[in-house]
Amino acid sequence: MPMNIAIDGPVGAGKSSIADQVARRLNILHLDTGAMYRAVALHVLRSGVNPLDEKAVAACCEHADVRVRYVDGAQRTLLGEEDVTALIRTGEVSAATSAVSSWPAVRRRMVCMQREIAKHADMLIDGRDIGTNVLPEAPVKIYLTATPEERARRRYRQQVEKGEETPYEQVLAELNARDARDMSRATDPLRQAKDAVRIDSTDMTPEQVVEAIVRRVEEHYGRKA
Ligand code: C5P
Repeated sequence: MPMNIAIDGPVGAGKSSIADQVARRLNILHLDTGAMYRAVALHVLRSGVNPLDEKAVAACCEHADVRVRYVDGAQRTLLGEEDVTALIRTGEVSAATSAVSSWPAVRRRMVCMQREIAKHADMLIDGRDIGTNVLPEAPVKIYLTATPEERARRRYRQQVEKGEETPYEQVLAELNARDARDMSRATDPLRQAKDAVRIDSTDMTPEQVVEAIVRRVEEHYGRKA
C-alpha cells in the first residue's frame, strides 16, 4: 500500500507550498489536484464554453486531455502534450475553475484520475475533497485552514510581490466567494473529514505547519521522516 497523505482546506490556507515542503521532507511526490481542475477550466475557456453552463462544460470536459507529469520531483500539468503549468495561474482561470469544478461530470473524471495516480506512488495529495471523497481511507488527513482575513492578507502580499494591484478588500471578497462556492456545491463540497487533524495556521509560521504535519505522519508511520 502506498503512503497517502491527504491535505484539504480553503483558498489561501497555504496548502500547495506547505504540501511541497512536506513532500520534500518525506521524499514523496505532491499531487496538486487544484491544478487538474484548473487545466480543465483552461480548456473550457479556450473552447469558448461558459463555465456556468453544466451541459456544455460536461461535453467539453470529455475532450480535456489532462495529464500530470513529474520533472525533477515537481508536478507539471499538461493538456495533451502542452505544458500549461504556468498558464493555469491567472485570475481568469481561478474564477472559471471554481465554477467548472462544481459540475459532477468534471469531478467524476478528475476523482477517477486522482485515485489512479495515488495508487502508484507514495504521495501527498492536496485539494478540497481528498480526505472526504477521493481517498477516504487515507491514514493521515490534514485540514489546513486560517481565518479568511489572514488568508486574504497572504494572497494580497503574494500579488503585490508579483506586481499586481488588486485592493485587499477585493482579494478578501473573491476569496470568500470561492470558499462559499467550494463549501456549498452539491457534489463533493469542501468540509473537514471526521478523522482529519485540523491545523489553524493563522498564528503559525510555514515552518511550524510543516513540522506539525511531518510529526503527524511520523506518529502514524512510526518512522523518522
Ligand atoms: O487549490 P486551488 O486553489 O488551485 O484549486 C482551484 C479550484 O479548484 C478551487 O477553488 C476549487 O474550486 C477546485 N478544486 C476542487 N477540488 C479539488 C481541488 C480543487 O474543487 N480537489
